[in-house]
Amino acid sequence: MVAGITPFNFPVMVPLWMAPMAIATGNAFILKPSERDPSASLLLAKLWKEAGLPDGVFQVLHGDKETVDGLLTHPDVDGISFVGSTPIAQYVHETATKHGKRVQALGGAKNHAIILPDADLDNAADHLAAAAFGSAGERCMAISVAVAVGDAADALVAKVQERPEAVKVNNGAEPDAEMGPVITPASKERIVKIVTEAETAGAAMVVDGRDLVVPGHENGFWVGPTVLDHVQTQMTAYKEEIFGPVLVVVRVDTLEDGIRLINANPYGNGTAIFTSSGAAARKFQRSVTVGMIGINVPLPVPVAYHSFGGWKASLFGDKHIYGPEGVSFYTRGKVVTSRWPETHHASGASYNFPSNFPSN
Ligand code: NAD
Repeated sequence: MVAGITPFNFPVMVPLWMAPMAIATGNAFILKPSERDPSASLLLAKLWKEAGLPDGVFQVLHGDKETVDGLLTHPDVDGISFVGSTPIAQYVHETATKHGKRVQALGGAKNHAIILPDADLDNAADHLAAAAFGSAGERCMAISVAVAVGDAADALVAKVQERPEAVKVNNGAEPDAEMGPVITPASKERIVKIVTEAETAGAAMVVDGRDLVVPGHENGFWVGPTVLDHVQTQMTAYKEEIFGPVLVVVRVDTLEDGIRLINANPYGNGTAIFTSSGAAARKFQRSVTVGMIGINVPLPVPVAYHSFGGWKASLFGDKHIYGPEGVSFYTRGKVVTSRWPETHHASGASYNFPSNFPSN
């Protein structure tokens, strides 16, 4: 039996990174969904049942830390798949491995995209805006840092500045909504505080989404698309995962400076480069210490026949999730050595170390 512990931001997709693989490879699966949006897990359970899955093979267990701790220490649970923030991923990995379980624990992210002066800047600006503001920035693969190299910076910021106006922020149940609210009032408060601190510390406010109000939903937890330029690496806006629709622009002189920045960052989930140079792209893909890399692709989320996962503080454990590594995670190898002698005459005991030679 294995368990999956999942975050709020993709209440269907993330459980489906786990349960189908686990069940197809012969495990019963317990899902502990986020307590912030638990109902999608029950819809999944209903669909499994309708599809004919026997009772007990997919179970949902609601709760928070106490429930998680029960799973991490329970003797009947063989493996834990976790997706969530880095501190909890690390805790889950340490606790469950201490209790003898196999663990894959995917954590948070701070994904950088490098933009070189030879890139198609209109294309880069479109993709950066979509990757920073889509799902209100509440994606582990969101691009939250644009690393503008040399001459690219001014032109890029001017183009990115135009994009937020076109984003339709609305109640997510409305068909035209491109971006909804953030998850809680506390989340909004935290995002606004980080942006305000960066502005006070000298970052340039290019687009300010702090005061956005959506008519008809005046008390909603809205944060509009926000762009900060001239962000310095010691600012919280650079150091922390903001998990909101905020793009910070850091300016560097060279591609090598950009790569150094990415590699010095504790996270290593996704990254991208925008360039028309094959040589630059090759140098980038070979040098960065990041699990998922896009070349002119802002959100390099692998399709299901690859696996998904980061490096460094974005993943604790050895195996990425779903795809071939998911199959490997949910299965165990066995080696069977057998022999079927044709006659019953005793060959005598051999005291040599066994080998593959027929005479043994
Ligand atoms: P979270 O870490 O707060 O919660 C994730 C899960 O852990 C939930 O089920 C929650 O109930 C449980 N949990 C929370 N606190 C706990 C504690 N003290 N002890 C034990 N369990 C606890 O994450 P979240 O806010 O729901 O999701 C956002 C985070 O998830 C972001 O950091 C985001 O980058 C990350 N994320 C990562 C990926 C990835 O693939 N790497 C994908 C999606 C989200």
